[in-house]
Amino acid sequence: MIDTSKKIVGLLGWPIEHSISPAMHNAAFETLGLNWRYHPFPISPDRFDKDIRTFLTLDVQGFNVTIPYKKAVLKFLDTIEPTAKKLGAVNTITINQNQESDNISCGYNTDVQGFINALKEGGLVEMSGKKAVVIGAGGAARAVLYGLICEAISKITILNRNIKTALQTQEDFEGFSSKLEILPLTQNNIIKRTSEADLLVNTTPIGALPKPDSSIWPDDFSLPPNITVFDLVYNPPMTKLLKQGEASRARIISGLEMLFHQGALSFQIWTNLQAPLEVMRQACYKKNGGRYV
Ligand code: NAP
Repeated sequence: MIDTSKKIVGLLGWPIEHSISPAMHNAAFETLGLNWRYHPFPISPDRFDKDIRTFLTLDVQGFNVTIPYKKAVLKFLDTIEPTAKKLGAVNTITINQNQESDNISCGYNTDVQGFINALKEGGLVEMSGKKAVVIGAGGAARAVLYGLICEAISKITILNRNIKTALQTQEDFEGFSSKLEILPLTQNNIIKRTSEADLLVNTTPIGALPKPDSSIWPDDFSLPPNITVFDLVYNPPMTKLLKQGEASRARIISGLEMLFHQGALSFQIWTNLQAPLEVMRQACYKKNGGRYV
């Protein structure tokens, strides 16, 4: 039962029973003594078009949006901020009331800045003049690409299983296509392009539970020691790819760092308060196990 005296935010998605976000946000609210609560609101795909309209009329402060609705939700919102519009993906919604007491919804995307904040905190501060290899070309890859382009990275090689998806992604970043190279995801291409790069980002689910023994990086090769390896997979927080990076003395960053940074940015958008970063980070690692990387 929801306590109606509290301010409510929550997560819209499907399935979301294993989400870390409630633990992360509720820890932050409790630490700051806020009378707020974060709830999971699962919506099954067959009910999305109907239920989303109802959710947007509720007396709540906002929502996070996750798979599979980051794109689908756009057409139901009143306004969309520029990053979310450019990417065609919303992961945070605010709900405000106008003078007639109607709800006004606004969509944001904090994945992009969450990725960049985690990357900079992880030690790769200056992107200008650098080269990146991005594995995958789906929704998460688009947030990564947009972030790296905004940080003036010099070149990005996208390696994807389905070359058509990658070409479509390249087209969507019209104006920056000279920075983007598209290649098929093969062992040769990963090894060759990574040997010339400063940053390797895995945006595929390879290495996630229930297959933690898989990795995009081949077993019998070392990663370059000067590279930064960022794995967007956050369960487990220490993936096989990150272990391979650590063994090669590369700098490594877990997807859990991006997850908690995007959450902290959502928290700030809803509350207008500085997020308690360490509390949120600890709550994430406590929920998913693992250690800081
Ligand atoms: P998505 O839109 O479905 O894209 C998945 C991408 O992975 C596609 O490029 C797909 O290639 C590729 N892929 C999937 N399985 C593959 C396989 N077995 N071999 C090779 N390539 C494969 O999914 P998404 O939303 O981008 O999410 C991708 C991952 O990022 C998930 O694990 C998600 O949990 C994680 N993520 C993390 C954060 C964070 O905060 N840390 C945020 C968002 C997402 P094809 O085009 O060839 O199918």
